[in-house]
Amino acid sequence: MVSNIKNSKGKEILLYGIPASPGISHGPVFRFLHGEVEVVQYEVGEDDHDSEIERFLEALKETENQIKQVRKDVAKNLGEREAAIFDAHLLVLEDKALIDDVVNEIKKSGDNVEQCVYRVTQKYLDFFNQLEDEYLRERAADLKDITRRLLMNLVGATAAGTAFLGEPRILVSEDLSPSDTASLDRSKILGIATDTGGRTSHAVIMARASSVPAVVGLRGLTEKLEEGDHLLIDGFEGVAIINPCESTLFRYGKVGLRRKKIKDLLEEEASLPSETQDGHKIMLYANADSIEEVKHGIANGCEGVGLFRTESIFLKKNDIPSEDEQYEEYSGMVKAANSNTVTIRTLDLGGDKNLNKNPNYQELNPFMGFRAIRYCLRNPDIFLTQLRAILRASAHGSTRIMFPMISGIGEVIRAKEFLFTAKRQLREKRIDFDENISIGCMIETPSAVIISDMLAEEVDFFSVGTNDLVQYLLAVDRINNQIAYLYEPHHPAVIRALKQIFKISREKKVPATVCGEIAGDPHFLPLLLGLGVDYLSASSSLLPELKFFARRFSMQEALQITKKVESLKRPSEIKQVLNQFYADRISELES
Ligand code: PEP
Ligand code: MG
Repeated sequence: MVSNIKNSKGKEILLYGIPASPGISHGPVFRFLHGEVEVVQYEVGEDDHDSEIERFLEALKETENQIKQVRKDVAKNLGEREAAIFDAHLLVLEDKALIDDVVNEIKKSGDNVEQCVYRVTQKYLDFFNQLEDEYLRERAADLKDITRRLLMNLVGATAAGTAFLGEPRILVSEDLSPSDTASLDRSKILGIATDTGGRTSHAVIMARASSVPAVVGLRGLTEKLEEGDHLLIDGFEGVAIINPCESTLFRYGKVGLRRKKIKDLLEEEASLPSETQDGHKIMLYANADSIEEVKHGIANGCEGVGLFRTESIFLKKNDIPSEDEQYEEYSGMVKAANSNTVTIRTLDLGGDKNLNKNPNYQELNPFMGFRAIRYCLRNPDIFLTQLRAILRASAHGSTRIMFPMISGIGEVIRAKEFLFTAKRQLREKRIDFDENISIGCMIETPSAVIISDMLAEEVDFFSVGTNDLVQYLLAVDRINNQIAYLYEPHHPAVIRALKQIFKISREKKVPATVCGEIAGDPHFLPLLLGLGVDYLSASSSLLPELKFFARRFSMQEALQITKKVESLKRPSEIKQVLNQFYADRISELES
């Protein structure tokens, strides 16, 4: 539902979206142009012209190297014909007229190089865009792509987009990719609001992990915003308010105070055991992607890391990190876990998580495409490098390794063969690692659920990725907000699938952890326990509430509510029952 009021500067506009990361934020807006760079303008003194020109030439070189690498990757993955597209990009970079124009613009205007590159390329683009000739218009697309890359390199790829944020602001974008999120400077971001996206898109999961309030699926938001607007976002209820008036700010100030009171209440119980009223123990792990998050998880009472999404370090670097770089990260996490177990998941690139370096390689169905274990098995160098780095980290403390997006037994067997090779390579070099490292696989595809008994013969543990399992079981793209209403973790099919996994897990003595977003949603807790799971892994900021709630019902009640849920047919009814039970038990938080 979207308000129809038009923004006539200063007027309050209310929009409803999907609550994605809890918290309330208010501040000036920063428009993040997806994958693009805000081009700032400032004057440089005459003495600095040479250094600006030097920066330009260096950025040209860096861009050329990146394109050559992309060309190589595309040639390997897609073929020489597709790779030839990038020859045109390389030609643009060598275009003498264009280079001379930028250099002259720097000297003539006295402006910074980013602004000069933008101005000159814009002039060329305007010219190309007027032409009838289709071939030349395509050259305009090449030039646009190259310009974006060049500007990214000029402002520094790691801080792309927010390098010039200045004061902290609410970041607004049509959509946000995980690599965009990974490269944001979090200290400058008060909150995130996007037109598209769903609760389990990876950009949102990352926002939640760093406790940045977020609302997604706010259709039409970016169109309604005007220069200088302020935005308030309520990540609890999924609301965004453009230019909130005084009374709205006052009301939200009160909401903020109430939330603070709740936080204090949760903290009071943070060090109590995580168990139900009748003493049934629940193992709470943290989903953590950085050493900071591990420390935060330990402070919030987690008993280890249940999911470390290693792709986060690839996305931050926007490239493939070396074995040593990965080892630094993994061993740092293992050490920070204080003798608790860290579960490291091998690379899950693909789907909505891609390195920006390859924007021209697009799949029609990325979530069902060249992703996760499929990508690793076809890229032995990348996979072996990562496996060696994880194994080396295992010398520093309890470590488990797990493979994502398994859809058949062959993938697990081949992944284990790679692990065997990585171990042999380390042994040959007399490098220490845990010979008995536990091996697990994600259960997140329907086929993995159906053959979980077979998979149990090959692995030591399961980790249930409900974010993907819901999308694949229900055939609902997890990041498409047009169909977000169909993305229903409360669907009976999901509940039956979970029941089946936990049954096999018990029979085969292969412990299962739930690490998708429902694990951190307290409303699901009695149902998950009633279905038979005892291990949950969630963003560490969500653990105190899980624990608080668990201590307010018994296992017998969990079983009763599960039975009731299993008799219901509609997701909405199931949701209603779980929400009501939760509301009854934690009424003290609401008062
Ligand atoms: C999942 O699918 O539930 C999961 C934990 O993995 P990701 O969200 O990274 O796909
Ligand atoms: Mg997944």
